[in-house]
Amino acid sequence: MSDTIADNLRRVAASLPPDVRLLAVSKFHPAEAVLEAYSAGQRHFGESRVQELIPKVKALPADINWHFIGHLQTNKVRQLIGLCYLIESVDSLRLLEAIDRESLRAGVVTRILMQVHVAREETKFGFTPDEILDYFSRRQFESLQATHICGLMGMASNTDDTGRITTDFRTIRSLYDKILRTCPDLRGFDTISMGMSDDREIAIREGSTQIRVGTDIFGIRDYGAG
Ligand SMILES: *Cc1c(COP(=O)(O)O)cnc(C)c1O
Repeated sequence: MSDTIADNLRRVAASLPPDVRLLAVSKFHPAEAVLEAYSAGQRHFGESRVQELIPKVKALPADINWHFIGHLQTNKVRQLIGLCYLIESVDSLRLLEAIDRESLRAGVVTRILMQVHVAREETKFGFTPDEILDYFSRRQFESLQATHICGLMGMASNTDDTGRITTDFRTIRSLYDKILRTCPDLRGFDTISMGMSDDREIAIREGSTQIRVGTDIFGIRDYGAG
């Protein structure tokens, strides 16, 4: 790929409707790559590992909005609190409770998305749609003291079958609509994070409000380097 990160970023950004946010997924790419995208105007970046996020937060401009998108272990929550604009990968009640407890302790409010599992793969993390609907039907969010649930994050099945991908995104979107019908008084529940490099067009068509793009901006990840 001879295009620069800035070229790629501009191309992806130009393809977005104005109300869809672009999250640049910088995991496994060095701070210099983040800085190149930053210099081209990008301010929202996604990371998937706490030990990679922390040095980047320290090294890079303070006005970056960091999103955490990887599986988060409860024992790492304390390190993460206060660093993120949004934790998108909250995949269990145990984790949600740990985030709330640690946020309260730190005196901050943490913004999160609930990760919903709709993909065919068994290994992916997340709540089932029924678990999330049940959570909102019981209004369990009212017991949170220092955590604000801002919406849903999900991934489609890892497949070339565009019908299946469409169905997965539609399931996430319809879950979001059901939650708002169940709890019409919810405030700030406005984010549907879905769509990655390979399926972002379908995700946007199905109602995504934020796509998470790594490869199409930064190139192929070198997992050996991290
Ligand atoms: C790595 C990752 C992405 C970016 O994937 P690309 O295919 O490189 O665009 C998006 N979302 C999550 C949750 C990821 O872990």
